[in-house]
Amino acid sequence: MDVERVFHMKAGNGEASYAQNSSLQKKSMESLKHILIKSAIDFYTSEAPQTLTIADLGCSCGPNTFAMVKRIIEGICKSCCEMSSTLPDFMVFLNDLPTNDFNSVFVGVPEFVEEMKDCSGASVFLAGVPGSFYGRLFPSCSLHFVCSLHSVHWLSQVPPGLLDQQGKSINKETMYITHRSPTAVVESYFNQFQRDFSLFLKSRSEELINGGRMALAMSSRKSIDCFDKNTTLLWDLLAQSFALLVSQDLVEQEKVESYNVPFYAPSPAEIEDEVEKEGSFSIDYIEPYEFSSSSGNAENDAAIITMAVRAIQESMITYHFGGGEIIEPLFQIYKGLLTEAIKKDEVKSTHLVVVLRKLP
Ligand code: SAH
Repeated sequence: MDVERVFHMKAGNGEASYAQNSSLQKKSMESLKHILIKSAIDFYTSEAPQTLTIADLGCSCGPNTFAMVKRIIEGICKSCCEMSSTLPDFMVFLNDLPTNDFNSVFVGVPEFVEEMKDCSGASVFLAGVPGSFYGRLFPSCSLHFVCSLHSVHWLSQVPPGLLDQQGKSINKETMYITHRSPTAVVESYFNQFQRDFSLFLKSRSEELINGGRMALAMSSRKSIDCFDKNTTLLWDLLAQSFALLVSQDLVEQEKVESYNVPFYAPSPAEIEDEVEKEGSFSIDYIEPYEFSSSSGNAENDAAIITMAVRAIQESMITYHFGGGEIIEPLFQIYKGLLTEAIKKDEVKSTHLVVVLRKLP
């Protein structure tokens, strides 16, 4: 499956576009933001360039698009104010796949620029950069700070190797990894992660100046155990929802069996290994964080998580199944299963925060 084509395809009524439904992402970003902001401030206070060049990779379109960049700029302005030093200009590049709705992002730019000027006194200049972060996006040595939130766990493609020679799925029971998946499935996912993440590091190493920082937050596993329930449960529940649709003859079993997601939640050790192999970065910080849906209202939490999963999955499912008719019943079932899982306190997720420093 060509991820680029399906990430932003508007499905059916477009109800669950990423723009409106990113509250799950927002919740976790709130808790992680201080590490990312601190790494940007650390860089600025040590290097103090006249213009600070920031790239946000996988910015999406919607309420969260400017959120991270806003906090970074505010953090740096506050620190300049405390040190009574002049503010830098900020050059911000917002990157996502070419199919992202950049028009809706650009519409919000003048207001954002004005807000930054009014609140922090900062001069902010913005540009959109459509393209895959698995490859070069910027000129050599042109960036000071790169951040990416909830994006690098998306692979460049569904790993090859999940189909047998007859083109039939070898990963029949779920769309990711489950404890019943054949070893070949686990290996295919891991190999794709290695290829993608090493290319990601290589590309950024050419684009960042020496001493530049890169702060990433992504889905992760706490340990080397690839069947970590925190990363597999949401996919397992989706597989169960599909199975119910199959039992009602609403969708073909074979189509469900061949549906796999281009996703991989690496362990901290897997990230460390790739960073070491690539050789251009040192690790300033690496820490997994666990979140649980704990508002006390299982129905509400399930609705929020369902919207977030649907926002990303809707276009992929529509593409694979050739239409969006199953989306509504599928996610109704999903929400029900999720509510029960939340009541049993089973729904947790792990996010990894990694801060890298470009070596000279
Ligand atoms: N950073 C935002 C959005 C995260 S959703 C937030 O925290 O809310 C993940 C985003 O990553 C999507 O918009 C998706 O299009 C983008 N993405 C996935 N793979 C990508 C790639 N290879 N290159 C650039 N963007 C990608």
